[in-house]
Amino acid sequence: MVDNKIYPEIRTKGRILMGPGPSNVHPRVLRALSAPVIGHLDKEFLDIMNLTKDLLAKTFMTSNDFTIPISGTGSAGMETALVNFIEPGDKVLICINGLFGERMADIVQRCGGDLEVIQGEWGKIIEPDEIEKALRMRPADIVGIVHAETSTGVLQPIKPVGEITKKYGALLVVDAVTSLGGAPVRVDEDGMDVVYSGTQKCLSCPPGLAPITVNKRAEERLASRKNKVQSWYLDITMLRSYWGKERFYHHTAPINMVYALYESLRIIHEEGLEARFARHILHSNALKAGLTAMGLELFAQSGYQAPMLNSVKIPEGVDDAGVRKYLLTNYGLEIGGGLGPIKGRIWRIGLMGHSCTRENVMLVLASLEEALADQGFHVERGAGVAAAREAYKVA
Ligand SMILES: *Cc1c(COP(=O)(O)O)cnc(C)c1O
Repeated sequence: MVDNKIYPEIRTKGRILMGPGPSNVHPRVLRALSAPVIGHLDKEFLDIMNLTKDLLAKTFMTSNDFTIPISGTGSAGMETALVNFIEPGDKVLICINGLFGERMADIVQRCGGDLEVIQGEWGKIIEPDEIEKALRMRPADIVGIVHAETSTGVLQPIKPVGEITKKYGALLVVDAVTSLGGAPVRVDEDGMDVVYSGTQKCLSCPPGLAPITVNKRAEERLASRKNKVQSWYLDITMLRSYWGKERFYHHTAPINMVYALYESLRIIHEEGLEARFARHILHSNALKAGLTAMGLELFAQSGYQAPMLNSVKIPEGVDDAGVRKYLLTNYGLEIGGGLGPIKGRIWRIGLMGHSCTRENVMLVLASLEEALADQGFHVERGAGVAAAREAYKVA
């Protein structure tokens, strides 16, 4: 017997998710999740695995056939991308300008890598010159960098970094957890060697899988390893044989999450990647116009703002948690607060995948105006929504 008063049925009404992830999930993806579980070596499931790999490679804009989802969240993708390519004593350079760069550096030390970091400023990009300077002083086997730094809202240009790492013979590992599906992640064109992502940001799937892609250069590095990969579960060579023709049993894939990812990728490619990127820019521009018109100041470096994660400074005297609670209680709307050194200083407003819509932009502007007024912060009535309408060119 279970006492329903103590252990009630889950009956969440859901939320409008406009934070740093998860984002709202398309009803078609939820439907795919509830399809019957079948065996992971069943021919029907094997076909879905293959099609999922194909669509993932298209999403990464790569011809790498080594493209699979890792069973775990974005952080498992990060760990996979590092633990497989670092052997004890390898020289690793990590670019840090936010929380996720810090996490990469932590993992490098845990794998026994000889770590060097470029300590950038939170809210600014890492200048490619800085990377070149660091590599000239001390060559590295691997360079790690975050594409869209979710803790600050900065979108890092990768192409110049790819040119530098190639010139200095280092592998480039890129964190595309937040950018994939929302901004171009041009793996081949921009010279990225290993790239990982997560399902709950711009792919608009529940959290639980971490897509990863590995190019030939990185594969050679795997083949020349002297030691076994320290992690058994995240050993990507074994994972590849599980996802490949061999179908070598490694673990049981989270069947329904693969269905969900497959459906979310189908939705992405129905819309088209370029149209999807344009949609993220359109709504982000309208949101930023609205926030600015309300007298708020954007946090991330101008010219390098990630469209799917808009960071805005909290005005002096306004209570961070109070505003977020107001939005959640009155509108079922979630936005994110700051982390680490910028905790209490910024809000992070996500426009990721299925959450990136005109309705959501208008709702967050109107409700934020109300929440700020509730705190005694004066905003010209309707200024945010009016500026967004202007940006959308609607009456
Ligand atoms: C969310 C995120 C991660 C971690 O992903 P989890 O799914 O939370 O493990 C890593 N890097 C970036 C840039 C992220 O935004």
